[in-house]
Amino acid sequence: MILQRYGEPLVLMDRPDPQPSATEVRVRVAACGVCRTDLHVVDGELPDRTLPIIPGHEIVGRVDLIGREVKQLQPGMRVGIPWLGYTCGQCRYCVDDRENLCDRPQFTGYTRDGGYATHVVADARYVFPLSDGGDDVATAPLLCAGLIGWRSLRLAGDGRRIGLYGFGAAAHIIAQVACWQGRDVLAFTKPGDGAGQSFARKLGACWAGGSDETPPIELDCAIIFAPVGALVPLALKAVRKGGRVVCAGIHMSDIPAFPYRLLWEERQVLSVANLTRSDGAEFFQIVPRAGIVTETVAYPLIRANEALSDLKAGRLQGAAVLVP
Ligand SMILES: [Zn+2]
Ligand SMILES: [Zn+2]
Repeated sequence: MILQRYGEPLVLMDRPDPQPSATEVRVRVAACGVCRTDLHVVDGELPDRTLPIIPGHEIVGRVDLIGREVKQLQPGMRVGIPWLGYTCGQCRYCVDDRENLCDRPQFTGYTRDGGYATHVVADARYVFPLSDGGDDVATAPLLCAGLIGWRSLRLAGDGRRIGLYGFGAAAHIIAQVACWQGRDVLAFTKPGDGAGQSFARKLGACWAGGSDETPPIELDCAIIFAPVGALVPLALKAVRKGGRVVCAGIHMSDIPAFPYRLLWEERQVLSVANLTRSDGAEFFQIVPRAGIVTETVAYPLIRANEALSDLKAGRLQGAAVLVP
């Protein structure tokens, strides 16, 4: 399913199977999650515009062909392919162990073809081996919603009382991790979204309400998953002195002006960009220990446009996943 023009539906096309270079592998896709970032790609809201492009960066599949220099992966292995598709290994960020900020990166489903397809080619060094026997559809959302969520949770610090703004794919995974860590999770949905609020409570949130509501307790930290800039001052208002607000999305509407007193007393606002491979290694160790169960809605690959519009309209609970 190919994006040919921004803002237009993806187009089903039959292409020859892609061939891996010496350092790449080809993966037969079993499931590919639909991430909010895919909406930003399709709508042309991100800066590095590459067309045509196959979206999708929450890929689970089996290796079916390996380049001649690839040693660490074998045909038949179950693997995951995330957003981070390549880094240069040489810029100051790569050298400094911050490859998520690489100056010359490639991203799956954004600057290189992704998983809304039957096959995808990936640089072998950025592919995560997965345990055999897991459910492919249930695993797919972990590749971005889970991973970026995990990085956001780490950057939010150790605060016990954590607010999650926007209770979609990422929050529904990270709420489970935070509860497993013994934190109190407070979930903020769109005002009036009773179904989303009871979903959050079911997953362990001790409180759930609209983003316009004042929570019953002061937050130590907050993560904003919704792409809504107006949530930044609201979250700052809800965190204690020295508290931290993490913006987890790649794109957000403008943040409205707000009084300095909301930031005063050492409150912090920061963003999370991409992921490192060690985030992945760490997170996939936690998944079975925390007993994460994802809620998914599967769509046949050819209905990718419908999955994207359901996500855009907020008609989903949990995560959409495409199955070829
Ligand atoms: Zn680099
Ligand atoms: Zn994503």
